[in-house]
Amino acid sequence: MTKKDTDCRCPVCFFDQSQLLVLVRSIPIYQCQHCQIGYLDKRGLKKQRKLKSNTFYDFSQYLIQEERLRRRFRKIISLVKKINQNGQVLDVGAGFGLLARELYLHGYQVTAVEPKSRLEYLKGLKVKIFRTSLENFSKKDNYQVIFLIDVLEHFSNLNKALAKIKDLLADGGVVVIQTPNYRSLMTRICRNWSWWFIEEHKLFFNPISLAFLLKKNSFEVIHLETYEDLFEFKKNFDGNFASIKSSWLRKILKLVVYSFFFPCYLVFRPILYRLGFGGLILILAKK
Ligand SMILES: [Zn+2]
Repeated sequence: MTKKDTDCRCPVCFFDQSQLLVLVRSIPIYQCQHCQIGYLDKRGLKKQRKLKSNTFYDFSQYLIQEERLRRRFRKIISLVKKINQNGQVLDVGAGFGLLARELYLHGYQVTAVEPKSRLEYLKGLKVKIFRTSLENFSKKDNYQVIFLIDVLEHFSNLNKALAKIKDLLADGGVVVIQTPNYRSLMTRICRNWSWWFIEEHKLFFNPISLAFLLKKNSFEVIHLETYEDLFEFKKNFDGNFASIKSSWLRKILKLVVYSFFFPCYLVFRPILYRLGFGGLILILAKK
């Protein structure tokens, strides 16, 4: 189905032809026919404002995932270290501050921008903290690297946000972006992919749309990969069995599926990632 509607223009390339990508909790997500970005139209954004998310800013929930997230952040930092050893860096949407803490411990001079969450991990550290949004942040410090980890999908005006990032970056500086991948294997085989997260997310990316967005804003993509961790994959996959009421039938089905499917998944995972089907996209782009 193709929709041509000026109220439903793509927020990145302004093309007016889109198709329905998916319906999540009765909110339609459209896919731009030109740049492939997924987005909510005006009616969808209105409906979204009525939804509430309870766990997103809950520190006790975050603590359960701490070790897993720390490992992921350390991998990202080891990648960034190859480009920049110890410069000024900016963490936009720092959340509880775990990435900013890791950056600090790895020798960077860190500035954290966070409008909502308490920066629990930054207590007692020499990290500059600004309790504001990217939009209202204006401290110029010649940042060598700017991190947007699980942030981009929350923005309403993406071109404006990237223009701001560009302005804050030093010449030759690098922006590091991680965002969910709607073209992932997870999205295709899990009934309720948790990263649609329609209560908060306004934009949805695949590797092509993200690379397009960066090129359109005159960044040079220098690294692109997709990945996910096993815990996230299993948690999403388990959701497929939730509607089976009989507990013994659920257990048998799970046993059968897990014994056949999971070994194959584990063997072919690196190939899936290389083909761009991992659940998360990580991209590094140079100003
Ligand atoms: Zn577009």
